[in-house]
Amino acid sequence: MARSLPIIETCDQCSACCRRTPIPPFQPGEEFAWNVLPEWLILVDQRIAADQQFELLPCVWLDQDSNRCLHYEFRPQACRDFQINSDLCRLSRWDEEAV
Ligand code: SF4
Ligand code: SF4
Repeated sequence: MARSLPIIETCDQCSACCRRTPIPPFQPGEEFAWNVLPEWLILVDQRIAADQQFELLPCVWLDQDSNRCLHYEFRPQACRDFQINSDLCRLSRWDEEAV
């Protein structure tokens, strides 16, 4: 029988989706519309420049101690649109539990 995940109502202490999104998923130029400070993009540029297989690395903006986005007010639209309890949310949680 398929294992099910509980329905949850908060992202507190989760961050599973952020742990499977290696860089903030900005559309081209979107970071300028949010007035993201250039120094916050250094880690992003470094990870891209490393040209590594980073599909499963946590987002460079994720504080892994608090499980929170370091620049939450400046996060990309894709992060704002990501729905808790959506299929992708549940898939992320499922994958993280399997790690
Ligand atoms: S949207 Fe889902 S996967 Fe992402 S932090 Fe919230 S509960 Fe976790
Ligand atoms: S919410 Fe923040 S930490 Fe999570 S994927 Fe988006 S930018 Fe990265």
